[in-house]
Amino acid sequence: MFARVAIPAGTHILDYKGRLITHAQADRLYGDSAASGHTFLFMLNARYIIDANVGGNAARWLNHGCAPNCAASIHEHPGGVALRDRIVIEALRDIAPGEELTYNYGIVLEMRHTARMKRLWACRCGAPGCTGTLLQRKR
Ligand SMILES: [Zn+2]
Repeated sequence: MFARVAIPAGTHILDYKGRLITHAQADRLYGDSAASGHTFLFMLNARYIIDANVGGNAARWLNHGCAPNCAASIHEHPGGVALRDRIVIEALRDIAPGEELTYNYGIVLEMRHTARMKRLWACRCGAPGCTGTLLQRKR
């Protein structure tokens, strides 16, 4: 997805939308998706995952980038209602028209990050510091 207009740093670009499913539902529906190297799932909180395969918006088309110009952050519902938490995508810096919008997906798999998995989740963002994979260091 590319910017059509100049986007100042800090701009709320859009929310990552989709149906809410529980972690157990995600495992049942997409249990083997770690081997696909592709996902429209985004972990919202301990209870829910946003599944952009259903009811997703344009946010699902943003690519991962190793030197991203956007960030996705969880905005917790002030009343603590897990269902109402949001994933907000914001501009990290001023973005010029024509630039691709990217953010770090922050993907950490439960399984080992083997060379094969890194290849499956290969990154081709082209940034000078590209790690070559979407998979992030385990903490
Ligand atoms: Zn990269």
